[in-house]
Amino acid sequence: MKLKTKIHLFSTVLMLFILTLSNVGIYFIFKQLAYTTEYNQLIHRSKELTEGLSRVQEDDEVGDVLRTYINPDSVLRIVEEDGTQIQGTGSTIELKEFRPTFDDTQDYTMDEVNGTAVMMTRVPIVWLDDEIVYVEIIQMLRDSSRSLRLLKFVLLGVTLLAMIPITLSSITLGKVLTQPIQKLIATMNASQSSGKYERLAESDGKDELAEMSQTFNEMMGQLEQNYSKQEKFVSNASHELKTPLTIMEGYARLLKRQGFNNREVADEAVLSILNETTRMKELIEQMLQMAKSKDPLAFTFAQADVTQLIEETIKPLRVASGRTINFTPTGRLPISTDEKRLKQLLFILLDNARKYSEGPIEVRAMKKEHVLMIEVQDFGEGIDAEHLPHLFDRFYRVQEDRARKTGGTGLGLSIAKDLAEGLRAQLEVESTLGVGTTMKIVWHW
Ligand code: ADP
Repeated sequence: MKLKTKIHLFSTVLMLFILTLSNVGIYFIFKQLAYTTEYNQLIHRSKELTEGLSRVQEDDEVGDVLRTYINPDSVLRIVEEDGTQIQGTGSTIELKEFRPTFDDTQDYTMDEVNGTAVMMTRVPIVWLDDEIVYVEIIQMLRDSSRSLRLLKFVLLGVTLLAMIPITLSSITLGKVLTQPIQKLIATMNASQSSGKYERLAESDGKDELAEMSQTFNEMMGQLEQNYSKQEKFVSNASHELKTPLTIMEGYARLLKRQGFNNREVADEAVLSILNETTRMKELIEQMLQMAKSKDPLAFTFAQADVTQLIEETIKPLRVASGRTINFTPTGRLPISTDEKRLKQLLFILLDNARKYSEGPIEVRAMKKEHVLMIEVQDFGEGIDAEHLPHLFDRFYRVQEDRARKTGGTGLGLSIAKDLAEGLRAQLEVESTLGVGTTMKIVWHW
């Protein structure tokens, strides 16, 4: 069943239920009021009758008194305890055969004769022979029954008439609610068949439906952005992998053509193939690393000391590269971080400083009020300002030749940025061409 039909059915049934409930309520309240009025009149008559009967001296006068107090459509009876009638009179043929049964727990008893409600009361009095007898009044409620029947028809008519606006409003409600969903489905279908990231028309409303359209459009935008990023990454990655493969293929063909007869060429080919294999391995490792550093679950935060962490990262690098890396500790700098990831980030920055400079490298760590900062400074070739905005893009290299010589892939800083994001830090760069570069990892809190 369609959502529109469901809403329509549900709201119609609900409104009908509420309407019926209120009509039934109205009917019963009216009925109760009518019966109470009738009862008050009956009890008043019953009092007058018993007063009249109390003045009676002879059996013969009883019939006269009863006839005096008789009303249209009623029966007056004086009965003994066992129900035997002593005297009685009636003003309607319809009640002649009627045998009343009283419910003494109630003020009055209701029954029905020929579709007309009958109200009965019974009061005890002391009779001429000092015995207790009962005065019964049986009254047909012709007017009340007629009014109640009329009310029933009016309420039924009102319910049926109300069905028209109820149906119309529930159809409109169904349409209003499902229209944006239908638009959403149509846009999704259009996106599916065209392969494009279609958006919904922006609405000015501030309700949940407008919010849903806005969220959908934002989601589509995000998907489109992610898709184009991924597409760019795949094309960049395949381009990057193609270069070493082409070189390797070239040298392999050379070896095949010339064999190993020319020792010099063979040596050069094997060396180049080895170099390119190393480069490709590094590239693939970095690509895997990049996939991992984007995963927020890969980060495990614990209490650590930044000073100690820097010293542990610098030490093996000094030994391996033989370069001077200066760091003057200024005491403990506690932080909640993922030690392994922060070391990895530091290593990328230090390795770049090593690759793109000749002289000593300076490392500093400091804490000022709400800022904690690690700086890696080199006095190398520096970066031209025009390259700075793209520095953290994947596969971005300032100079292809320079990067090839240093073994760069253009992925280092992109990974560094992802790592910094995961560590809830910011990565900043200050660089002057020919003077040097300072990379900063900054935490604000
Ligand atoms: P790569 O693997 O090529 O080093 P990165 O993403 O780490 O890739 O760096 C991107 C580019 O930024 C590098 O090609 C290099 O030209 C430039 N770069 C990065 N760090 C420095 C630095 N400390 N000094 C000068 N240039 C740098």
